[in-house]
Amino acid sequence: MSELRVAIVGFGKIARDQHVPAIAATDGVTLTAVASRNASLAGLPHFATIEELLRDGPEIDAVALCTPPQVRRAQALAALEAGKHVMLEKPPGAAVSELDPLIALAAAKGRTLFATWHSRYAPAVEPAREWLASRRIKSVHINWKEDVRVWHPGQAWIWEPGGLGVFDPGINALSILTRILPKPVFVTAADLAFPANCQAPIAANLNLTDINGLPITAEFDFRQTGPQSWDIVVETDQGRMTLSGGGRRMAVDGKAIAEAPDQEYCELYRRFVALAATGASDVDLAPLRLVADAFLLGRRTIVEPFVD
Ligand code: NAP
Repeated sequence: MSELRVAIVGFGKIARDQHVPAIAATDGVTLTAVASRNASLAGLPHFATIEELLRDGPEIDAVALCTPPQVRRAQALAALEAGKHVMLEKPPGAAVSELDPLIALAAAKGRTLFATWHSRYAPAVEPAREWLASRRIKSVHINWKEDVRVWHPGQAWIWEPGGLGVFDPGINALSILTRILPKPVFVTAADLAFPANCQAPIAANLNLTDINGLPITAEFDFRQTGPQSWDIVVETDQGRMTLSGGGRRMAVDGKAIAEAPDQEYCELYRRFVALAATGASDVDLAPLRLVADAFLLGRRTIVEPFVD
């Protein structure tokens, strides 16, 4: 099988930190070009925009869209119309309804649209899902708190409409939650804290449940200094299951069950190569729907302005 020739679009933090090394470490995929207004990668053809890449660039099979969510829909549309497979960074878009036309276009073109949820590929997520499948779940609590100045320095887009604010990391927790629980969940209430100068929340508390009334709570906060928290605690009839480190470690009643090094982005590219081989798509909108519902139901408070 020939290599999947991929161009990265939007050469920022995640493109450098994860996509470039993951492509280099994954069989069946090659980095062929970069399209980014300001950034480039030595030794690779560079274009300022995806339109220039598609018009003047080398032959490619696919694009990995690593731009902010607000501009990804138009880029995905251009790539699919040009017959390219598309990998979307998370969240898959700035709005839920913008995805349906892209899903339909990908199907009509026989091309892959892959909405990635990297946290679902964290090594302890599947063991957690399997362990929970045969237990009675009593409650779930998510504690997802990080320092925005450390993880998103200078990223003004995150505070704009469609940038999600604290839901940018929070949606990772929701992507794990919707993978490990056996039944669909929905939001029943949300408290959202908006900095006075921002269009997106800096903190959020959510209540969720499922058809059986399972109590699920989530605390998201971008103002965490010191130790960072990316934890999900599930109380069951056979003990307390803890998924920590963003899905990297699983323990039951404090005893380690699963732990492995991070391979999330290599797994994403393996999946992308497999999907592109048949032109199948993989777009699960469940985590983005939960965020949209939190905005719909959210009770707002205004908190002190955020200065980066
Ligand atoms: P970032 O560092 O701001 O990089 C995004 C890049 O996209 C920018 O460097 C910029 O490059 C380009 N860009 C920005 N605004 C644009 C616009 N209006 N039109 C076209 N291009 C634009 O952001 P990031 O942290 O890499 O995040 C990108 C996406 O990856 C987000 O959806 C985020 O949720 C996801 N993600 C991030 C992380 C993380 O740890 N940071 C982890 C997982 C997923 P140019 O100026 O060169 O065009």
